Amino acid sequence: MRILLVEDEELIGSGICAALKHFGYAVDWLRDGTSAIHSLKMEKFDVIILDIGLPKKNGLEVLAEARQYGIKTPVLLLTARDTVMDRITGLDTGADDYLIKPFDLTELHARIRALQRRFVDRATPTIVYGSLELNPSSHAVTVGGNLLNLPRREFALLHKLLESTGQVISRESLMQTLYGWDEDVDSNTLEVHIHNLRKKLGLNFIRTVRGVGYMIDKAMSET
Ligand code: CA
Repeated sequence: MRILLVEDEELIGSGICAALKHFGYAVDWLRDGTSAIHSLKMEKFDVIILDIGLPKKNGLEVLAEARQYGIKTPVLLLTARDTVMDRITGLDTGADDYLIKPFDLTELHARIRALQRRFVDRATPTIVYGSLELNPSSHAVTVGGNLLNLPRREFALLHKLLESTGQVISRESLMQTLYGWDEDVDSNTLEVHIHNLRKKLGLNFIRTVRGVGYMIDKAMSET
């Protein structure tokens, strides 16, 4: 799961960033409103954590512009003070939740999980592929009713591939699902995760398309 964090204060930003990575999320951290809008139009995120007090464009302006542009990604606003007006404006503009600084990082984590659940329940129901079922909101994968234990990144990868069976997903796109831009990632990491998934699901479950990426064939019933 990929999170965009927009926060101009170094200390707070680096704290949140480190915590989110520790919780297993891919994080992209930007420090002003203009670059946030720019990257929201270019990239896809699962959750946006948006500070209200930002240089260039404030968080509420970023939110309004993103919603006008049709970006439906859940937004968690960060406000410096408990200002009722900011909160009301934020929620009216299309924020899904807010946190008042200073907040506990475990609470931030809980809010993100709640947003993700709500959003995922709306957007993506359980994926059924043969005897395999993948439930995006509970993060559970079962094969023939047996629970399969998948680490977060393997789950994200499998989810991405199962969302578009019959289509080749490029390496870049898969890497982007797994990591933020600034994370120094070994280029073999993707292969390692694919290898692990194949060990659990069968060697031919995921197909390598040389020079392009990976794919899962359409299920029998769909062809
Ligand atoms: Ca700020």
